[in-house]
Amino acid sequence: MTKYRLEYIWLDGYTPTPNLRGKTQIKEFASFPTLDQLPLWGFDGSSTMQAEGHSSDCVLKPVAVYPDAARTNGVLVMCEVMMPDGKTPHPSNKRATILDDADAWFGFEQEYFFYKDGRPLGFPEHGYPPPQGPYYTGVGYKFVGDVARKLVEEHLDLCLAAGINHEGINAEVAKGQWEFQIFGKGSRTAADQMWMARYLMLRLTEKYGIDIEFHCKPLGDTDWNGSGMHCNFSTKYMREVGGKDYFEKLMDAFKVARADHIAVYGPDNHMRLTGKHETASIDTFSWGVADRGASIRVPHSFVNNGYKGYLEDRRPNSQGDPYQIASQVLKTIATVPTDAKAAA
Ligand code: ADP
Ligand code: MN
Ligand code: MN
Ligand code: MN
Repeated sequence: MTKYRLEYIWLDGYTPTPNLRGKTQIKEFASFPTLDQLPLWGFDGSSTMQAEGHSSDCVLKPVAVYPDAARTNGVLVMCEVMMPDGKTPHPSNKRATILDDADAWFGFEQEYFFYKDGRPLGFPEHGYPPPQGPYYTGVGYKFVGDVARKLVEEHLDLCLAAGINHEGINAEVAKGQWEFQIFGKGSRTAADQMWMARYLMLRLTEKYGIDIEFHCKPLGDTDWNGSGMHCNFSTKYMREVGGKDYFEKLMDAFKVARADHIAVYGPDNHMRLTGKHETASIDTFSWGVADRGASIRVPHSFVNNGYKGYLEDRRPNSQGDPYQIASQVLKTIATVPTDAKAAA
C-alpha cells in the first residue's frame, strides 16, 4: 500500500467569481486511485460563503482525478460541493446542472496578467513601459522579462503530467500578459481541465512570489488590452454536416440569446467589450470571417470547408466560469434544428 496525498479542490461561494480552494488528506491505496475509490469529504462552508456558522458542513464529491507531479504520490481531485445529504448540489455548484454533450468540443484560450507589487510584471514603479506592439508572441528579456517564461513552462509541464489537454502558450499583447489554451471533449471535461489548469497556475505563483490577475480589464480604460477567455466550440453536427444555412440559423440564435451569453461570460465585461482592442461591443452581436473585432470569429477553414468545423466566441472573459460558458453555448445551439431533428 502507498500513502497518497489527495488534494481535494473545489469552487467556493464567492460571487460574481468563485475562488479555488483545496485541502489535503492522506489515504492508502494499492495503486493510483480511481474516481470511484475516492471518498466524499467535508469542509467548513461558513469560511467559504457556502454555509452559516451554526450549520457549516458542506460535502465534497470527487468528480475528476489527475496525477499531481509537484508532489510525491500526489493526486489532484476536482470536486463538486454538495449539501450535507451528499446528494443535493449546493447552490454554488454550477457544474451539477450544466448541459453536457461528449461530442461537443471546447477549446478555451485563457488570458491573464502576471502581477508583482500591485502592477503587471515588468511595469515600472511609475508610469508605463513602452506601448504594446512587441510583446505579443515576443521573445527576449526586454519584452518578456526573466521569470514569466519559467512559470508558464513549469505550468505546462504540470498540466501535461496531469493529463490535462494543455494545447499551447503565447505571450500576449500587453506587457506581463500571457495565454494558455485548454481543449476538451464535453463541456464538463473541458471545464474541469480549465479549472484545474487555473489551480496549478495559482499554486505555482506561490513559488515565484508572483500573482495572477484574472480581471478582464485590470488597466481600465487605457490603451492596454484586456484579458479574454475565447471559447472555441464545435458539435458533431457542426463538424460533420454544417452548411451555410445551418450556420446562419445558428448565428441568428446567438443574436437572440446575446444577453444570456453575456450574463455568464464573466464580470465587468463591459469594461473589455468596447469595440476596441480586438473586441466587439457588448451590446450588439456580430460575426465575421477571420474578424477579431466580431463577437464570433469564423475561421477561414470553416468557410473553405463548406461551413463545417468550429467557431470562436470571443466574448467570454478571463474570469468567466467555463462550466457556465460551455453550457450556455450548448443551450443556444440546442435551439437550432438540425436536419436530423427536422426530419424526425
Ligand atoms: P487564436 O489565438 O488564433 O484565436 P488559439 O490557437 O489560441 O487561436 O486557440 C484555438 C483553439 O481552438 C484551441 O484551444 C483549440 O483547441 C481550439 N479548437 C481547434 N479545433 C477545434 C474544434 N474542432 N472544436 C473546438 N475547439 C477547437
Ligand atoms: Mn489564442
Ligand atoms: Mn489571445
Ligand atoms: Mn482566440
